[in-house]
Amino acid sequence: MKTFDVAIAGAGLIGSSIALELARAGLRVGLFDRQEPGKEASWASAGILSPAPENPGMIATVPLGKASMALYPEFIALVEELCGQETGYRAKGTLEVIVSRHAREELSTIIALHHGLGLKAEPLSAADARELEPDLREDVEAAVFRPEEASVDNRLLSGAILASARKSGVEIFSGARVESIRCEGDSCKGLVVDTEKINSAHTVIASGSFSAQIAGAEQYAPVRPAKGQMISLVCPDTRIERVLWGDDIYLVPRNDGRILAGATVEYAGFDKSLTAGGQRKLFCAAIDLVPAFEHARVEETWAGLRPDSPDHLPILGPTDLQGLIIATGHFRSGVLLTPITAKLVREYITLKSVRTDWERFSPMRFAQAEKQSRARAN
Ligand SMILES: Cc1cc2nc3c(=O)[nH]c(=O)nc-3n(C[C@H](O)[C@H](O)[C@H](O)COP(=O)(O)OP(=O)(O)OC[C@H]3O[C@@H](n4cnc5c(N)ncnc54)[C@H](O)[C@@H]3O)c2cc1C
Repeated sequence: MKTFDVAIAGAGLIGSSIALELARAGLRVGLFDRQEPGKEASWASAGILSPAPENPGMIATVPLGKASMALYPEFIALVEELCGQETGYRAKGTLEVIVSRHAREELSTIIALHHGLGLKAEPLSAADARELEPDLREDVEAAVFRPEEASVDNRLLSGAILASARKSGVEIFSGARVESIRCEGDSCKGLVVDTEKINSAHTVIASGSFSAQIAGAEQYAPVRPAKGQMISLVCPDTRIERVLWGDDIYLVPRNDGRILAGATVEYAGFDKSLTAGGQRKLFCAAIDLVPAFEHARVEETWAGLRPDSPDHLPILGPTDLQGLIIATGHFRSGVLLTPITAKLVREYITLKSVRTDWERFSPMRFAQAEKQSRARAN
C-alpha cells in the first residue's frame, strides 16, 4: 500500500499549494487528481487578488483575504525561484469605476466601507481616473483606486506551483480519481484512489466543486458549483494597466496583452457550457466600460466552476475524524486565498495550532448541523 504523511485529493491551486508547503516542511506528500492537475476552477479563474468584499456576505473573509494578500509577494517570489517560471503577477492596484448619477454619495460610502475594514482605498475624480486609464468610457463620474490590490495569471501560477511542488518532492498522480476517504472508527486513515487504498496520517480534501462527491467527505464539504463564464480579448491599440471593476463586469489585463472579462455567476450544476445570454452580457459590459473593445478580437471563451458553500464562506480546517482536513469552498476568492490556505494547513499539521483564527470557517459548522438533523429524523 502506498503510504504518505499527507494525501491530498485535488491538485488545483488549493491542493497543490498545500502540497508544496508541506513538502517544504519535510513531509512526504501524495497529490491526487482525477484529470490533468490544475485544469478546473484554478484554470478558469480571472486571477484578481482583492480582499475587498463584493457583498456584505463576504465581509467575514476580509481578514483572511488581507492575510493572504500580505503573503503574496513572498509566495510568488518563492514559487518563481523554485521552478524558474513566471506567474504574471501584477501589483498595480485596481480601479472601481462609478458611472451613476449619485457618484459622490456612492464614492463616500465605498471609501468609508473600505476604511472601516482596514482596506486602502482612494477616491478619484473622473479626470484622475481617466488619466490612470485613458481608454475608460468618457462619462465616468468617479472612481475608487485600491493601490494594494493585484492580479496574477492563475494558469501560469497553477503550473508554477505544480512544478515547484514536484521539485520539492511531492508525488503527483494525474488521472487518479479519489473515490472515498478511508475511515477506521473515528479516524481517517487515507484515501481510496480508483480501487487502490492509500495510507496517510493526514488527509486533505481539496477537490473544489467536486469535494462533496468524495464518499465520506460530503457532510464536511457540502459544496456546489457556481458557473462563471469568461471571455478574453485582444485589442492592440488599447491598453489597460490595472484591473477595472464596472457594473457587472471586471476587466483584467495580462502581461501578454490579453484582456480577460468576467464573469457570470450561475447555478447550473456541473454544466460548463457557454450561453448566448451569458456571453452577450460580458461583451456588452466590456464594451460599455472600454468602448474601444468594440473592435477587439475575441481570443478565447470559457467557463469554470467555483466551489461555493451554503454560506458562501470557505470550508477550512480539521474535522471530528482524526486526520481529516477540509480545504475547499473558496468560491470567488480561491486564487487570493491560496497562500493563506496553504500556510494554515501546514501550521495545523506541523505545529498542531494555527496563528490565524479560522474557527469561523470550520467544516464542523456543516457536519454538526447534518448530524443533528439526522438524529432528529431517527
Ligand atoms: C470564472 C471564474 C473566475 C474566478 N475569478 C477569481 C478571481 O478573480 N480571484 C479569485 O481569487 N478567485 C477567482 N475564482 C475562484 C477560484 O478560481 C477558485 O476559488 C479556486 O480556483 C478554487 O481552487 P481549488 O483548488 O479549490 O479548486 P479547483 O481548481 O477546481 O481544483 C480542484 C481539483 O480537484 C480535482 N478533483 C475533483 N474531484 C476529484 C476526485 N474525486 N479525485 C481527484 N481529484 C479530483 C479536479 O480535477 C481539480 O483539479 C474564479 C473562478 C471562476 C470559475
